[in-house]
Amino acid sequence: MGTNMKYVSVLGSTGSVGINSLLVISSLSEKFKIYGLSCNKNISLLQKQIISYKPKFAVITDKKTYDNFIKKNGDKFHDTHIIFGNEGLELISSNDKVSTIVVAIVGFSCINPVISAIKSNKTILIANKEILVSAGDIIISILNKSNATILPIDSEHNALLQVILSSGLQYKINDKEYYKNKIKKLILTASGGPFYNYKIKDLKNISPSEAIQHPTWNMGKKISVDSATMMNKGLEIIEAKVIFNLEVDNINAIVHRQSKVHALVEFFDGTIIAHMSQPDMKIPISYALTYPERIYSHDNSEYNYSDLSFEKLSLEQFPCYRLSRNVAKLGKNSGLILNAANEISVEYFLKKKILFTDIPRIIEDMLDGSEITSHNDINSILENDLKIRKETKKLIKKKYL
Ligand code: MG
Repeated sequence: MGTNMKYVSVLGSTGSVGINSLLVISSLSEKFKIYGLSCNKNISLLQKQIISYKPKFAVITDKKTYDNFIKKNGDKFHDTHIIFGNEGLELISSNDKVSTIVVAIVGFSCINPVISAIKSNKTILIANKEILVSAGDIIISILNKSNATILPIDSEHNALLQVILSSGLQYKINDKEYYKNKIKKLILTASGGPFYNYKIKDLKNISPSEAIQHPTWNMGKKISVDSATMMNKGLEIIEAKVIFNLEVDNINAIVHRQSKVHALVEFFDGTIIAHMSQPDMKIPISYALTYPERIYSHDNSEYNYSDLSFEKLSLEQFPCYRLSRNVAKLGKNSGLILNAANEISVEYFLKKKILFTDIPRIIEDMLDGSEITSHNDINSILENDLKIRKETKKLIKKKYL
């Protein structure tokens, strides 16, 4: 094995970003090898991945699933050690041998492993939006004291990064001074989700199974619901604010139904440069993995870009997007409140306990009723997150069930 071999851990390897990351890594197997994998409950896929990629460690984060697995197989499967939970994730994120972490877990719960990875100076490919939205300030402050690198693999932010670097600018995460005089506007595209053409009054009756049908991207349930409410785009506005730090008024989204243009950067001389590609997560993942080089090879023969259209995004039709823009401006712990209230509301919606249109109402109630304050350490963020989740459940029981 060559000495330039880089070891990668994939947090959330059985979800769609995780699966795509492993496909990219397979095609670049002369440069990358898997060190750790993790799943929550999808044991059958994890076992297949262990056999294919032979990681040193595999983490199971769901307690019951882990206990059952250990009872049946012991703590080793083939030559892979099976370990549990957040401590397991921290091990595969911070081990000396590992250079790169892919954060493909959805939700806020993987904050500690990400902090461990930053403190251990890793290159972190981040698909997770929730931790940047809820704890962006503290992540940036820990990052600034380390030699770690955070690279976005969320397709829009990865596209922004590619345009910025292709324009001769540098990647300086969160550097307000550097980008302020060089970039006028950042524009993210939104597919519009499955209900873009619905009338506002018809949104009430949408069922979970309708909400998880995304028109262009194939994704997990939580992010599909977020795309339908347009919360996903809202979280991405906040994420773009954390990464590139322009004024929120200069970070916008437009509806582009075909998901072929992923982001645009407007410069002061009137030039707008767009990033285009097929809606395939392997493209942003590979760019971040081999950054700043492009080594990955992708077949574009099926790519058809004859039907591009762009439309305005309605704040009235998508209140989650409106709330997120307010939160991006407000800062402090408002992102945490928005995110925690959204995660809980989506959970209740998927269980058919609340309506699709209750989601933004609950989030707005929580934003109005919670104390907006700043947190300087990770423990107070974690406490605040738990508290907001509890209070969101209480509010739902009281007002929405
Ligand atoms: Mg995205």
